Amino acid sequence: MNFSQVIEYCPRCGSDSFPEKAPHFFLCEDCDFHFHINCTPGVVGIVADNAGGVLLIRRGKDPGKGKFSVPGGFVDSNETIEAALARELREEVNLEMVAAEYLSSYPNPYLYRGVVFPVVDLIFVCEVRTLETLSASDEVESFEFVDPAEIDLNEIAFPSIRHGLERYIQKRVSILTRQKEQ
Ligand SMILES: [Zn+2]
Repeated sequence: MNFSQVIEYCPRCGSDSFPEKAPHFFLCEDCDFHFHINCTPGVVGIVADNAGGVLLIRRGKDPGKGKFSVPGGFVDSNETIEAALARELREEVNLEMVAAEYLSSYPNPYLYRGVVFPVVDLIFVCEVRTLETLSASDEVESFEFVDPAEIDLNEIAFPSIRHGLERYIQKRVSILTRQKEQ
């Protein structure tokens, strides 16, 4: 279900003359209220161990319950992207982020309770202080480090995470190839 099927009335005056004039833009023909369904930023953190394995978590709740993902979540209002990334790593897997390098972004239409929310995920490669603190929160069923060459992308919960892992693997392969040539 998308927003034009959910939103029928103007949230300011209650008028039913509230058409979706452009995708995700509603305009009240009675009180001129402009209502935009903005794209929400999400953050995604790829963390690797010393052997090069990527931290995958099995999701403990929907959407994507039981499938693999990597730590991440939504950016709160008045929060920076970096702070959101550090917060999600702390909340989901109890890791302290010390540095992050931007990798890529990808749309992630997010189906929640029957409605698709527009989200764009910002994907980072993260460095953490130590992996010794690693532990799963309630949102996380389990976690494991998987060699990038052995990640089954069909088992990854979201297209944005699949895209991020693909980019990460490509980048890693090109770094390894360069090192071999030197
Ligand atoms: Zn109105």
